[in-house]
Amino acid sequence: MKVVESLAGMKALAREWRRAGKTIGFVPTMGYLHEGHLSLVRESRRRAGVTVVSIFVNPTQFGPNEDFQKYPRDLAKDSAYLERGGVDCLFYPAVAEIYPPGYRTSVEVTGLQDRLCGRSRPGHFRGVATVVLKLFEIVRPDLAFFGAKDAQQVLIIRRMAADLDLDVEIVTCPIVREPDGLALSSRNAYLGPEERKAALALSTGLRWAERAVAAGERDTARLLDGIRSVLEAEPLARIDYVEAVDPETLEPVAEVRGEVLAALAVFIGSTRLIDNVRLRG
Ligand code: AMP
Repeated sequence: MKVVESLAGMKALAREWRRAGKTIGFVPTMGYLHEGHLSLVRESRRRAGVTVVSIFVNPTQFGPNEDFQKYPRDLAKDSAYLERGGVDCLFYPAVAEIYPPGYRTSVEVTGLQDRLCGRSRPGHFRGVATVVLKLFEIVRPDLAFFGAKDAQQVLIIRRMAADLDLDVEIVTCPIVREPDGLALSSRNAYLGPEERKAALALSTGLRWAERAVAAGERDTARLLDGIRSVLEAEPLARIDYVEAVDPETLEPVAEVRGEVLAALAVFIGSTRLIDNVRLRG
């Protein structure tokens, strides 16, 4: 596995691969890798000739009181993990090279960026869209892989790719969960033992809603109330939002007709976790 830090080095390597006729698969991450990230790598290896994984903890997508400084990092472990996973290149750029002095440009996907997580994290998706566009320009992948766990993120990236005519296919991969249902996340590392138990309320609430829909419930107000009751029964949990929205526009919907995205963000202690399911009525 090649480990590349410089933007020029990454561009040159990708150019070489393109010249050799290889399709490039790309998995952008913030590191502290787990099986969820690896599932994207596997899909990329299945679908592309070479796979590039980036690790970049992007400062511009963190708010002033968020966890940029303490976000977990372990390059040595991640690097070994990716090597074992058969990745061709780990791209590990420095903040100073991605955002050199005088940097001023950003991308906004208006409307979509202000809902759900965007409401409690103003500027977050501007940071995400901007860095992903930059990484796309550097790697110029044929395919890019994102997890459904960050449902709003992948929707925004898809919109940006379509609107800006980007020559990349965006592939969404399913959420990978622990055996008990908790969605894998680098932030799970923050949870103490009691918090880890409490974090189960997110997937338990969503599963309850899935079962309710399977049993015929279509009213999203009742479904959201049910999810909230599961979360409120957990003393360590504090709801940021619980919503049922149209999966394309992210606008709230009153009934489960066709596909509805049930999405939530919940603080477990000081750790903010997200999860979602698609409800089908
Ligand atoms: P992150 O490192 O958290 O920015 O995530 C990098 C990519 O991995 C994003 O596309 C995430 O949606 C994806 N990802 C993170 N956790 C999971 C998971 N549990 N299942 C599937 N994909 C995930």
